[in-house]
Amino acid sequence: MPDIIYTKVDEAPELASASFLPIIQRFAAAAGVTVETKDISLAGRILATFPEHLNDDQRQSDDLAELGRLVKTAEANVIKLPNISASVPQLVAAIKELQSQGFALPDYPEAPETEAEKAVRAKYDGIKGSAVNPVLREGNSDRRAAKAVKSFAQKNPHRMGDWTADSKTHVSSMSGNDFVSNEVSATLKNDAVAKIVLATAQGETVLKQDIAYPAGTVVDATFMSVAALKDFLATEIEKTKAQGILFSLHLKATMMKVSDPIIFGHGVKAFLAPVFEKHGDTLADLGVNPNAGLGDLLARVKGNAAIMTDIDACMSARPPLYMVDSDKGVTNLHVSSDVIIDASMPALIRAGGKGWGPDGREADANCVIPDNSYAPVYDETIKFFKENGKLNPATTGTVQNIGLMAQKAEEYGSHPTTFEIPEAGTVKMILDDGTILHEHVVEAGDIWRSAATRRAPIEDWVNLAITRQKAEGCRAIFWLDNDRAHDAELLAYVEPILAAQGMTDKFEIMAPREATRASLETITKGDNTIAVSGNVLRDYLTDLFPILELATSAKMLSIVKLMNGGGLFETGAGGSAPKHVQQLMEQNHLRWDSLGEFCALGESLHFLADAKGNDKARVLAQAVEDATQGILDDSRSPSRKVGEPDNRDSHYWFARYWATALAKQTNDPELAAHFTPIADALSAQEQQILSELAAAQGPAVDLGGYYRTDAAKTTAVMRPSETLNSIMG
Ligand code: NAP
Ligand code: MG
Repeated sequence: MPDIIYTKVDEAPELASASFLPIIQRFAAAAGVTVETKDISLAGRILATFPEHLNDDQRQSDDLAELGRLVKTAEANVIKLPNISASVPQLVAAIKELQSQGFALPDYPEAPETEAEKAVRAKYDGIKGSAVNPVLREGNSDRRAAKAVKSFAQKNPHRMGDWTADSKTHVSSMSGNDFVSNEVSATLKNDAVAKIVLATAQGETVLKQDIAYPAGTVVDATFMSVAALKDFLATEIEKTKAQGILFSLHLKATMMKVSDPIIFGHGVKAFLAPVFEKHGDTLADLGVNPNAGLGDLLARVKGNAAIMTDIDACMSARPPLYMVDSDKGVTNLHVSSDVIIDASMPALIRAGGKGWGPDGREADANCVIPDNSYAPVYDETIKFFKENGKLNPATTGTVQNIGLMAQKAEEYGSHPTTFEIPEAGTVKMILDDGTILHEHVVEAGDIWRSAATRRAPIEDWVNLAITRQKAEGCRAIFWLDNDRAHDAELLAYVEPILAAQGMTDKFEIMAPREATRASLETITKGDNTIAVSGNVLRDYLTDLFPILELATSAKMLSIVKLMNGGGLFETGAGGSAPKHVQQLMEQNHLRWDSLGEFCALGESLHFLADAKGNDKARVLAQAVEDATQGILDDSRSPSRKVGEPDNRDSHYWFARYWATALAKQTNDPELAAHFTPIADALSAQEQQILSELAAAQGPAVDLGGYYRTDAAKTTAVMRPSETLNSIMG
């Protein structure tokens, strides 16, 4: 078992690893610390799932499963980079690419009929969406900006769009019959095995059975009415048109991989309602599935002039759509995973409430967020900025987050228990002792879901919040709404623990809307606050506040204190930045900022030092902190423009600062002696190395693949300085 596991992922962070990981391994080896990789990339996970289709030298071990076991032990010390949570189009593209590379994988069955096809589809569906994090997150989340990162952002404030009181940008949500208003919740007194059935006039269908819950689990159930959703979408399209602003729909189709693509599909259907009414049968014959998005629909009807004419007519009668890429004509409705609420809403808010329209210009937008569970967070933020003007990053304090997420807490665990209801009836959640825990009367097409949260993660989360509040001494708020069914059950855990530890007066409890305002008021004054939140809000808030405060969530420190004693160190809260890969392939410039990796590396080494009493690891860790500080102080982070320093340059500087700090420290003379010549060489060869790195930029490059790149080609692209390589070698 290596001391530290560094995950192999996809897209921009994986490209960065091709340059950075050899440096880490080289430095760590000098201290006797081993760092090895485990493959959790989309391509790797696909290959590990279908060994029977591959020959011996193509087969790949199931590293995710192995890591899933490791994180339940005290031995775990994992640096986790962001990976692709694949939407169906991404999954299909990855399969095609692997097939073209000679892997005889089965196609993704769009409409499985035979048992064999259904089995293949079930395997692929296990890879889809958020399939990695829930397996690894055996602990709750502690995310904050490291002090050095926050003070850098205050000294170098990023640009913020202006907010004015007359901005027409606003959030629209359903007036009822959504997930939050239909929610029921109960805490189980005893261990139970549940089943979910749909009772109709014809009899009972089992939707899911054998769901085992330990005593103390909070079990929720709810549904969104499809009729209410359709009315709401139709009305909002009309309202947006009347207001003369952009129509935008913000969901999380990757994580909420069952519910949100369906809601997205209703968005597509509502927008093109006249086309679906007139051509419904033809569209069905062409295999159009609105959940796959407008992009897929257009590709399928391209040859049909009559439908294309009607689509054009419909689009011109509709409000302009918020665009993903106006140059390429990619709209908000093209692909469900293009607009992801936790990144899209903060970006729009940071830009002063502006989105890109089809004409390539910025405009106000109606931000449609159908469900009211967390829409008030964005609504209140927008109202706050309309009243108070934009935030000033030079003077704002910070919102840290302690998030409940261990063991698939809350919505992360909900995909296997989410259903699009096939026919009208009553959904019942029945326990093995015959108790009907929850029931809902539903119509065909309604989206019903259940989520569970276990006792141990909840208690761990409250205790983590207490530890962090004591460490920071600042305002701390549980973002829980006593009037919401699920939150009330959580509060029944939270309040007694706070009382027992004499911490009641250190915490406030507020519904998300009130907590949003209170937090914005606090940071506007320059003070700090801790948001103690559930899982979905954890995800949303650790993008929203960092994007406002630091311009990106990628620079966050993201620590997962595993419940069984291990450590999981996530690199920032950003994703895998597909746009960065595109730029690298076109211009050989990688603008990915590895600050998240730097911070995670420091934490992981500190953890190794503490857990194993490894003093050399502590020396490495302290030097990593000095190096990170050096990167910030001297502005060595990557630039966005080709021809300027990029990700690879920042790794050179990191290596140099790291070596220098190790050479200078006196705690471990052996390490100091080892790193002195390395530090000297890195500094003496600065001009040579930087010019070799600069010379590489400009031309398009070939990585031999997108989802599964060629290792040799990637190394050649990402390590273009012979001088640096030879010092590292
Ligand atoms: P994203 O990858 O975070 O990208 C959004 C934008 O954030 C990027 O285009 C980039 O802005 C900026 N950004 C993110 N990380 C950065 C970094 N290290 N350095 C500089 N800029 C950075 O979000 P997304 O496009 O919504 O998601 C892409 C993929 O990542 C999806 O497959 C998603 O599922 C996955 N994801 C994974 C995790 C995880 O594994 N923990 C978390 C979130 C998302 P500019 O383009 O302006 O430079
Ligand atoms: Mg997020």
